Amino acid sequence: MTADDERAATPHPALWGVLYRSSMPFWDSVKRHELELQRCSGCQRWLTPPRPMCPNCQSAESEWVKVSGNGTIYSWVTYAESPHEGFDSPHTVVLVELDEGPRLVSMPVDIPEADLEIGMRVSVLYEDIDEDLTLFKFERAA
Ligand SMILES: [Zn+2]
Repeated sequence: MTADDERAATPHPALWGVLYRSSMPFWDSVKRHELELQRCSGCQRWLTPPRPMCPNCQSAESEWVKVSGNGTIYSWVTYAESPHEGFDSPHTVVLVELDEGPRLVSMPVDIPEADLEIGMRVSVLYEDIDEDLTLFKFERAA
């Protein structure tokens, strides 16, 4: 990736604060070991990832709705080489369709790649990394 490509792929710094603020209620809920997702008050569309305005009806009004954290694997990918030094290789990422409809990207826990199946039932779990960071991941549903 050239420096020009990297600049084109990275939001302008003036937008970081907006993007960060838009996501804070989500990460605050994860910190409480809950999942709250943003939903447009105008047309009820789920806004994932969070954003200041609905791309469907342009409403700036939204609400944060607690979801179950239960869903099914919609898809997954395994990187032979980790995309980031913080992750082991190989690195698997799942796309989970929650029972409420929206889809979230995360990592599977204790599910070998050979066992992953589209439609597998999964549930959210939380990992407190430190006092400022909690991650959400998915495990096989009980
Ligand atoms: Zn809307």
